[in-house]
Parts: sequence; structure tokens; C-alpha cells
Amino acid sequence: MSDHDKSLWLKTCQEHVESSPLIGDLTVDLAVIGGGYTGCSAALTAAQAGASVCLLEAQEIGHGGSGRNVGLANAGLWLPPDDIRQHLGGEAGDRLIDLLAAAPGDVFDLIEKHEINCEPVRNGTLHCAHSTKGLRDLQARHAQLSATGAPVDLVSAHQTARRTGSAAFLGALFDPRAGTIQPLSYVQGLARAAAEAGARIATQNPVQSMQHNDDVWTLITDQGTVRAKSVIQATNAYHQGLQKTAPAYVPVYYFQFATAPLSDNLRASILPGGEGCWDTGLIMTSFRMDAEGRMIIGAMGDLSQAGRAAHTAWIRRKLAELFPQLADQPLIEGWHGRIAMTSDHIPKITQIGPNALSVHGYSGRGIGPGTVFGRLAAESLLQDDPSLLPVPAVPQYHEVWTGLRRAYFETGAVLTHFVKARF
Ligand SMILES: Cc1cc2nc3c(=O)[nH]c(=O)nc-3n(C[C@H](O)[C@H](O)[C@H](O)COP(=O)(O)OP(=O)(O)OC[C@H]3O[C@@H](n4cnc5c(N)ncnc54)[C@H](O)[C@@H]3O)c2cc1C
Repeated sequence: MSDHDKSLWLKTCQEHVESSPLIGDLTVDLAVIGGGYTGCSAALTAAQAGASVCLLEAQEIGHGGSGRNVGLANAGLWLPPDDIRQHLGGEAGDRLIDLLAAAPGDVFDLIEKHEINCEPVRNGTLHCAHSTKGLRDLQARHAQLSATGAPVDLVSAHQTARRTGSAAFLGALFDPRAGTIQPLSYVQGLARAAAEAGARIATQNPVQSMQHNDDVWTLITDQGTVRAKSVIQATNAYHQGLQKTAPAYVPVYYFQFATAPLSDNLRASILPGGEGCWDTGLIMTSFRMDAEGRMIIGAMGDLSQAGRAAHTAWIRRKLAELFPQLADQPLIEGWHGRIAMTSDHIPKITQIGPNALSVHGYSGRGIGPGTVFGRLAAESLLQDDPSLLPVPAVPQYHEVWTGLRRAYFETGAVLTHFVKARF
């Protein structure tokens, strides 16, 4: 059994899209490779605009990061606004900041419009200060975000303790625009909405190769072909095959564990307002509740490698440290996922050929951004208007030392967890 099979999200998923592998040949306006938020949002947008669409997914919808994440539907990127402007320039930076400020609203609107059954709770998120340095970082973020008009608030240590149920933090940054979802149900629901709008959703269907001749792309799969004028490759950290168009990123692993549903007594003292949380640690920790009152706690690390024991021992200790009342709670489900990190933490759009875009590199912030980037990539291709893209498309994107940097992150997480679990 793989770690993904032990995911809580697979167990509690309430949405399902009817799909099957594609057999034979199909001609469409847009072919989408990958069934995560980016691909499903692109397919939904295109089908609603009246285009013919086929989405090809190698495994099942939500097999990648979209079915494994924490479910924090946040505004913006990890980077504070000044850093985004510094990397992209003022005008492009401001456009991306505005688009992603609206992203949680876009997500919750889609959930409402398509009646996606995915445990939506829009009660905001708390970014919690684990140290005085972390608190200073939150104060700087608060100043920058407020200057963009974001309705964020700094919360005192006392109020943070009351709202989280943990005395471990020195304060928090509250963002009321954000919320939590059941991430796999959301992506399955997006795919279901796309299918209802007319998109063909084909699963268990890896695209093995693609070629462009006479203005037409041909995508080859096991038992069929898809011919399309335009292509969106939305494979992110779970890209397989298609060597020539493989996205460049540093793989960073993140794991989560869930308790059984907590008693009403315990639930009353922990996150009574239902916010989703993460802390300011470099090797960060996240925590949130699901609809049935399970505590879901996560941190950086790969459960399939030698560090599993260190990560597991540490998360037990961390749970008890944050919430002493949960010290004896067994951790039932444990799973992990791969994040596509870019050096500047800004998602990339690469022009992989005529009318063909590859979108990747959300660097751990992909629910809102994936929904927005997928939508705008589809609109840009269908309307033949590159100015609609959320970031300019680049002809190529490279990352260096990706294996070494992956090892650096994982070793850092293992060492931190090993030391902290023992001392
Ligand atoms: C553990 C974890 C926690 C995270 N927490 C959060 C969070 O709380 N909030 C947040 O906003 N973001 C979070 N993220 C990031 C977010 O989950 C991702 O950025 C987002 O899911 C990326 O969506 P995507 O559609 O681009 O890619 P994915 O969801 O990874 O989908 C890519 C799909 O492409 C398919 N594919 C690959 N190759 C082929 C091929 N050749 N043919 C056909 N299909 C193919 C894969 O099977 C996969 O299903 C987290 C990520 C992880 C891993």
C-alpha cells in the first residue's frame, strides 16, 4: 500500500467524476494533460466557453498534489507582495498580487456554483508565530499586505491561544479571505463540473508522447490519440513521461497525519472558529480540523524514505507540545505528497510549442493559484491572447542542482525532527 492510499482525503472524499480511458481517436480544440486543480480548472473554463476539451490523466483525478495537500485555500503566494514585485517587476507583480488576492473567492465561488461537496469552511487562516523572529516576519507581512488593501489582522498571543487552543504561539496573522477545503473532493468536483459542461475526462491515461505538425498537436496514449489545436500541460510535481517538456523544479516532500474524530469536549477547545493554521518555522508545521473533527497535522518530510521514523516520532511529540490534551490520541492516517518548488517561489508558465503551455511550480501554494492559472491559461489559448496569462510565458525554464537541493530539504527536515523528537 502506498502512502497515498493511506490518505484521509481518499477515505472521506465525497465527490466523484465518471471517467474512463480513451480508446480510439478524438479531435478537440484543447487537450489538457493532468487532472489536478490546474488541468481541471482549465478544462472547466474551456468547456464552459463552448470549446471541445479532452483532459487526460495518467492515474486518477487528484492523484498528484491536488489530492494530497493540507487544504488551506489561501490568498497570494508564500512570498510577501514586495518580493513578488521584485521578481516580476511592478506592473506584472501587481497584476499577480491582485489575481491571487481574489483566488480564495474564486475557489469558494466555484464550490458554491457547482455545489462541490468538499467541506468548505471560509473562516480564514492563522499564520502562527513560533518565535520572535517569526513574529517580526508576520509584522512585516502584515504591513505589506495591508498596503495592498488585504483585510489581514495581527492577532495577540492571548487571542491566538484562544483561537487555536494552543499556548505555543507568540501571535498570528489572520487572513479572513482564506479557508479550508477537503482538497481531493474539490478537485474531483471541478472535474465533475467540467464533465457536466461537456469536457471528456479520461483517467488511467498517461500521455506518452506528443508532436506538432501542420498546426495540430497529436497526443499519443496507450489506446488512442487526441488531436488538438492547443495543449495545456498541467502535470507539476507528478509529471511522468514526456521527457522533452518535463517541468523543472526542486521536489520537496510534505507529510500529514490525522487523528480519529475528536470528542465534542476536545473540539470545543481546539480551533473552535475553524481556521486553518501553519507556523512560521522554516521546517514548518500545519494543523487544521476536518468536518468530522479530526485534527490533521503536517510538516516537511518524506515518509517513504529513511526519515520516516524521525518524522513520525517528531509529529507525535509536536502534537502533544501544541495540544497537550491530544497527547494520547492515536494518529490513524499518514500520507505525504511532493511539492514543485521553484527558486524564486513563483509559478512558471512555459511555452512548450505553438499554442502549447506548461504550468507548474506553485511552491506549496496551489489551490487558489492552480485554479486561477488553469482558468487563465485556457482563456489565453482559446482567445489567442497571451496578455491574459497571470505571469508572462517564458520559452524555457531551468533549475540547477535539483537533486542536491531535494536532499538538502529532506536532510534538514530529518535532522530537525530527529533532534527535536529526542530532546
Ligand atoms: C503535501 C502537500 C501539501 C500542500 N498544501 C497546500 C495547501 O494547504 N494549500 C495550497 O494552496 N497548496 C498546497 N499544496 C500545493 C498544491 O497541492 C499544488 O500546488 C497543486 O495541487 C498543484 O496542482 P496541479 O494541478 O498543478 O498539479 P497536480 O495536482 O500534481 O496534478 C498533476 C497531475 O498530472 C498527472 N500527470 C502527470 N504526468 C502525466 C502524463 N504524462 N499524462 C497524463 N497525466 C499526467 C498526474 O498524475 C497528476 O494527477 C500542497 C502540496 C502538497 C504536496
